[in-house]
Amino acid sequence: MTATPSMTIDGAAVETAATVGVVNPATGAVFAQAPDCSRDQLDAAFAAADRAFAAWRRDEDARRTALRACAAALTARANDIGAVLTAEQGKPLGDAVREVYTAAAWLNYYAGLELPREVIQDDERGLVEVVRRPVGVVAAITPWNFPLTLAFWKIAPALRAGNTVVIKPSPYTPLSTLIVGEILRDVLPAGVVNTVSGGDELGAWMTAHPLARKISFTGSVATGKHVAASAAPDLKRVTLELGGNDAAIVLDDADPAKIAERIFWGAFTNSGQVCAAVKRVYVPESLHDDLVEALAAQAKAVRVGVGTDEGVQLGPVNNKPQFERVNELVEDALAGGAVVVAGGQRLEVGDGGGYFYAPTILTGIGNGSRIVDEEQFGPALPVVTYRDLEATVDHVNTGRFGLGGSVWSGDPDRAADVAARLDVGTAWVNTHLALAPNQPFGGAKWSGIGVENGPWGLYGFTELQVLHRAR
Ligand code: NAD
Repeated sequence: MTATPSMTIDGAAVETAATVGVVNPATGAVFAQAPDCSRDQLDAAFAAADRAFAAWRRDEDARRTALRACAAALTARANDIGAVLTAEQGKPLGDAVREVYTAAAWLNYYAGLELPREVIQDDERGLVEVVRRPVGVVAAITPWNFPLTLAFWKIAPALRAGNTVVIKPSPYTPLSTLIVGEILRDVLPAGVVNTVSGGDELGAWMTAHPLARKISFTGSVATGKHVAASAAPDLKRVTLELGGNDAAIVLDDADPAKIAERIFWGAFTNSGQVCAAVKRVYVPESLHDDLVEALAAQAKAVRVGVGTDEGVQLGPVNNKPQFERVNELVEDALAGGAVVVAGGQRLEVGDGGGYFYAPTILTGIGNGSRIVDEEQFGPALPVVTYRDLEATVDHVNTGRFGLGGSVWSGDPDRAADVAARLDVGTAWVNTHLALAPNQPFGGAKWSGIGVENGPWGLYGFTELQVLHRAR
C-alpha cells in the first residue's frame, strides 16, 4: 500500500479522520488511501486562500517568478509524480510523466504572458484605462482523465492573474494532485494553493462555499449543470469545460491510408478518455471499407497493457463504472446490428482484475444508436457511412454537444469551409486534438461556458475595471 499523501491547507500538511480507498485500474484493487476532507477543513482551506489573496494579488513580478519556480519544482519530480499518476489513472508511464511536463509548460507560458492595461481614451477630456483584476478565491474541480494537465489549465492562469486556489481532484485520481500540493508547499506562499480531496459531496460544498468567488470546473455535463446551479444564488463566476461527442467527418477526396492513423489516435489517445476525442467517424460509402480496414489494423496493432510495462501504448479504462458504460454501449450497438471489426470485448491482462477493454472499431451502425449519439468516453469508435454531406453537417449540429470536430480531405480549403460550419469550440482540419497553451479551448452549447488557455483563459480569471480619470 502506498503512503497516504496529505492535503495541503495554508502551506501545511493536514491529516483527516477518514480516508477513501484509491483503486489501481490495472488490477482493480485498492492500493492507497486518500484523505477525506471534512467540512471544517474545507472552511480552513478557503479561509487560508482568502487570507493569502491580499498579498498574492499585489506583486506581479513575484507571481511570475513563483510560477516558474513551480514549473521547475514539478519537473524535478516528474518521474515520481508520473508513477503515482499511472498507478491511480492507468495511463502509460511516459504519458503520465508528460502530463507533469505539460503542467510545467502551462506554468511557464502564463508566467510569460502579459496582462495588459489597455488605454481606450487619452485626450483632453480624460484618460480611460481598462484594467484586469483578479477575482479572488478560485474553487477548481477536476476529472480523472487528465488530473494534472487539467489542474494546471486552471492553477497557472488563476495564479498568474493574482487569484488564490482551492483545488479538488476526482476521487478516482486524488493522489497526483495531492503530491503536487506537497511539492508546491516549499515554493508558494502559504494559502496560495490548497489541495483537498474527498468524494463528490466535497465538490458540492466547494461550489456553495461563500468564500469562493469563481468556480473553474472540468467534468461531465450533468455535474456541470449542478455546478452552475450551485454558483447562481451567490453570482459566482463559472467556467465549465464539459463533455463532447466530437465527429470526424471524412470528405470523399480523402485518402484513408493517409488519415487512418491520425483519426485512430484522435479517438484512442488516453484509451478514448478525452473530452475532445473523436467519438464518431462519418465517412462516404466509397471510402468506408478502406478506412474501416485501416482503423481496424491500427486497433489490432496497438499495445494495451499495464501502464508501467515497457512499450505499452494504451492503459485500462480508469474506473469500473466507466468500464461498464463502454461495455454497455458496445453491447447495445451489437444488439442493434453493429459489426465489430476490431476488439468488442474486455481484455485479459495480468490477473484479470483490471479494467482493460480492447480497442474497438464498430461499423454497420448509424445515427440513433446510443454509441453514436452519446459520449462513450472510452476505447470504442463507431464508423458511420453518409451520402449527403450537408445533411451530415446539419445532423452533427443538431446535437447538444459542441466541443470539437474535424474534417478530413485532400483539399484543406474545402475541409476548412465545412469545418467552419460545425457548431463547436474547436474545428480541426486533417487533425484532431491538437492543443496548445496559447490556443483557447472550450465548448459551444452543452460542452461548456467560457474557455481555458491563451490570454482568453487568463481573462476568465479576472474582472474588468474601468479606471476613468477626468482632465
Ligand atoms: P464528473 O462530472 O463525474 O466529475 C468531475 C469532478 O466533479 C470530480 O472531481 C467530482 O468529484 C466532482 N463532482 C461530482 N459531483 C459534484 C457536484 N455536485 N458539485 C461539484 N463537483 C462535483 O466527471 P468525470 O467522470 O470525472 O469526468 C468525465 C467527464 O469530464 C466527461 O464527460 C468528459 O468529457 C469531461 N471532460 C471535459 C473536459 C473539457 O475540457 N471540456 C476535459 C476532460 C473531461
